[in-house]
Amino acid sequence: QAKSAGRNAVCFFDPEMQALVTANAALAADLRQAWRENQFLIDYQPQVGPDGRMTGVEALLRWDHPERGRVGPDHFIPTAEETSLIIPIGRWVLESACAQLAQWAKRPERRHLSIAVNVSVRQFRHPDFVDEVMHAIAHAGIEPQKLKLELTESLLADGIEVTVAKMGSLKEMGVTLSLDDFGMGYSSLSYLKRLPLDQLKIDREFVKEVLTDANDAAIARTIIGLAQSLGLGVIAEGVETEEQRAFLAAQGCPAYQGYLFCKPLPIAELEKFMAAMER
Ligand code: C2E
Ligand code: MG
Ligand code: MG
Ligand code: MG
Repeated sequence: QAKSAGRNAVCFFDPEMQALVTANAALAADLRQAWRENQFLIDYQPQVGPDGRMTGVEALLRWDHPERGRVGPDHFIPTAEETSLIIPIGRWVLESACAQLAQWAKRPERRHLSIAVNVSVRQFRHPDFVDEVMHAIAHAGIEPQKLKLELTESLLADGIEVTVAKMGSLKEMGVTLSLDDFGMGYSSLSYLKRLPLDQLKIDREFVKEVLTDANDAAIARTIIGLAQSLGLGVIAEGVETEEQRAFLAAQGCPAYQGYLFCKPLPIAELEKFMAAMER
């Protein structure tokens, strides 16, 4: 009798809703166990500059599920956010990236490389976030510029003042800040001007059909122009073909990431890929 209970009554016996709640609770429990049992891994995907040389990598979280195999972050990050498990997991990704940077710093042919780490809103919002970043950098003994934090426009939901202040503390520390999935959110240009950013990252959504969809081409061109006008760097994600790369290059985009160059790889395979490139 859900209907007669009135519009605002919570309906506890909608079977679809119940199934969803149960599935989510099961995933949340699975994730907690996965975290306890160290089932998370990080793949690294190269980012390249205008000459095709690697400038760094992006760290991408994976869940190595005992039965289901590798599970991508889109399937579990939302639940990890809801349950706050993203806080310890995110801290672990950050610390792992810094440890990896410390390894590369010992090798002359690798010490120029940066690592980009995705930061979820929940993580950024946490009062200890800035301290955790500082600690991770200090503990690993790395140059802070080599750590690139990928933030998204959704941070602005917390208000421009707090966001600018927190980003300012990170910039003071020397870390590099990139705005991920740019163009997908709702941030206005006046906000963008106030954020202490180093780089805009063009979302894969616009790169995908940049050669065939005039609107996507216009958006990509606009983002590149915007970055140039604001004195920011710009990188395109999801570059899969040489034609896409050439188009973006012709518009003035000097940095790329995508399957054209390399898939996200486990660290051992990435090391082999780099060794082959260094020869
Ligand atoms: P993102 O940060 O926009 O990462 C780029 C995504 O594009 C990755 O998906 C990557 O594997 C994929 N990709 C790269 N090159 C290509 C290409 O040429 N073609 C296509 N079709 N796809 C490409 P992935 O690894 O599934 O990650 C999805 C999202 O999960 C990421 O999107 C990021 O928002 C989030 N994520 C990943 N790792 C972390 C993490 O450690 N913490 C948090 N909070 N979020 C993460
Ligand atoms: Mg990213
Ligand atoms: Mg992205
Ligand atoms: Mg994206």
